[in-house]
Amino acid sequence: MAEPSHSAGCRECSGTGYVVEQVLGHTARARRCACYAACPSCGGSGYLLVSSVPSPVAQVCPCRHLDERISLFNRVGIPAAIALASFDSFRSWSPDHAASKAAAEDFAHKFRSDQPTKGFLLYGRPGAGKTHLLSAALRYLSLEKRVPCRYVEFMLLLSDIRAGFDSNRGHMEVLRPLIQVPVLAIDELGKERGTDWERSMLDELISRRFNSGLTTLFATNYFVEDRAVPETPGRVVRTRSAEFQRDAESMTLAQRVGDRVYSRLNEMCVFVKLDPGHDLRKDRTGSGSAGFWKG
Ligand SMILES: [Zn+2]
Ligand SMILES: [Zn+2]
Repeated sequence: MAEPSHSAGCRECSGTGYVVEQVLGHTARARRCACYAACPSCGGSGYLLVSSVPSPVAQVCPCRHLDERISLFNRVGIPAAIALASFDSFRSWSPDHAASKAAAEDFAHKFRSDQPTKGFLLYGRPGAGKTHLLSAALRYLSLEKRVPCRYVEFMLLLSDIRAGFDSNRGHMEVLRPLIQVPVLAIDELGKERGTDWERSMLDELISRRFNSGLTTLFATNYFVEDRAVPETPGRVVRTRSAEFQRDAESMTLAQRVGDRVYSRLNEMCVFVKLDPGHDLRKDRTGSGSAGFWKG
């Protein structure tokens, strides 16, 4: 029987050469698949000679730059909860899902490092799969196209900057790698309190990226358009914090981030609504708990 390794038939990697793993407490990690330990197709040169008339032509072997692509993916910073997210594992439950996936996939396929590419901004209520699509796009770009990418949750980034101040590090030390990376995904935009300082950090980050022609992707729970937020069914007692929460939820993205940042977002991104109308995490877990899923 023929050697079963290093083929599209590999059960672990389907012939891609890499396997992505979910390890609790760590960001998503990829490793070289055992079937690619040594490449029997190209002998490690990264090229295959394919017979052709009048003479054989060299074709890129799937193993080319494999280690570099894997190490790029391992630096993206995709959270463990969403480590296995890919376009293939994204389930389209609604027309919004199908359209959002198509937009993210189209972006990833067309992305080019040598010219500015407009990013996308996903908006809608939590639990619909926005983080999944951000991660899937970064996975595709790093593992398939060898594009350096980073993922950040905006609130956590602000905490990192504040922690830097405590050890006498300026904000630029934290921001610089994010200003320079070819593709940056900013998740949970608008969840911050919205102080002048927070807005100035966001403005600096995205304005510098925009001026350098770099691509930025976003996801936010805040809507672009005005909408009425329904009261939670069955709530009898109106508490102050519930009222506050409802007021915050009914704010638009422009109100959350300010007009200046909002108009910059418009220049940088195509806005894509992903809001099927109910919280899918509740459907999956039956309890309303976020479990091992992220929005
Ligand atoms: Zn394999
Ligand atoms: Zn090879």
